[in-house]
Amino acid sequence: MSEDFYDVLGVSRDADEDEIKKAYRKKATEYHPDVSDDPNAEEKFKQVKKAKEVLSDEEKRSAYDRMGHDQFEQAEKRGGFDGGGGGRGGGFGGGGGMGGGMGFEDIFNNLFNGGGGGQRSNRPQKGADLRTRLTLDLEDAFKGVEKQVTITRPERCPDCDGKGHPEDADVETCSECNGQGQTTTVQQTPFGRMQQTQTCRHCGGEGELYSETCDTCHGDGQVRNEATLSVDIPAGIRDGQSLRMEREGAPGENGGPNGDLLIEIQVTDHETLRREGDDLYVQLPISFPQAVFGATVDVETLDGTVEMDVPEGTQSGETFRLKGKGMPRLQRRGQGNLFVQVQIVTPEKLNKEQKEALKEFAEAGGDEVDVKEGFFEKIKNSF
Ligand SMILES: [Zn+2]
Ligand SMILES: [Zn+2]
Repeated sequence: MSEDFYDVLGVSRDADEDEIKKAYRKKATEYHPDVSDDPNAEEKFKQVKKAKEVLSDEEKRSAYDRMGHDQFEQAEKRGGFDGGGGGRGGGFGGGGGMGGGMGFEDIFNNLFNGGGGGQRSNRPQKGADLRTRLTLDLEDAFKGVEKQVTITRPERCPDCDGKGHPEDADVETCSECNGQGQTTTVQQTPFGRMQQTQTCRHCGGEGELYSETCDTCHGDGQVRNEATLSVDIPAGIRDGQSLRMEREGAPGENGGPNGDLLIEIQVTDHETLRREGDDLYVQLPISFPQAVFGATVDVETLDGTVEMDVPEGTQSGETFRLKGKGMPRLQRRGQGNLFVQVQIVTPEKLNKEQKEALKEFAEAGGDEVDVKEGFFEKIKNSF
């Protein structure tokens, strides 16, 4: 796979911001490690994130275009650009720092709240929502079912309880921000001289530094764990609907609650039944005499076999409704309908008796038929 950021996102070199955003969303969904089957999903996911981070930042993008991929990477390693948005929040969605320079919004916010920004990192924050997919067949969607889903997700590190350092580590006030958790810089901007407050990069806004980091999570406060969860899938669920499992997502920060887990349901196509909303459609072959005289025929439903009356004189292609034999209505009472379309099947083989009878039938109705010596003999004779 090419490393070039444009190739990674699959956009042209003159793609605008919107195209880049769209391409990113698509690729990120494709390679999300909790969803993708690709063995290199995690690596690709990181590349996609990186590509988007660079290409959606005007300054970085122009540097990238100017320098080319390799030089850009080297320059970045040397620390030329902001060090790649470190910070916590584990590899998941949302997270990832704002990147380099001050955006207009930051300037704006700082103008109006007296530089009080940067508090974010100490406020309790809900963790990120995670997504996964689950595939069912139509029978499961009909009955409702309990399924197991296994995901890999970030969890609060059990060894340090998410703090990132051992309980007995020595604490020291951050010298960079003097324990404030924020640093203040004065800048010349188009609006004049302005004071800008930022979360301290040295201590990540904690105001304190610890003599040791946790061995298990290397200071992140989070580890990636495999979790198997039972999901109750309600009867009547449709393809493309999502179930939300509250608090099963990524851990929150600063005592905030966990995010949620969203499970997108895929319902596979059934061999014979076609679904439209809560209604089902099926085709049923019947014989010509059954159509002529009427008959009681068996129809397979998702709830077992039922009998259906075909009235006399039924035409091929006529549709009958079996009320309440469709899908259950999700979280409501009742069921959709089953529509049965009958198809009169022309027999391909007839025995002698049947042939005679059918010939007589035709003649009695005044129909001209071309039976001749009969097609069985004809086929035999041709060998
Ligand atoms: Zn600090
Ligand atoms: Zn830890």
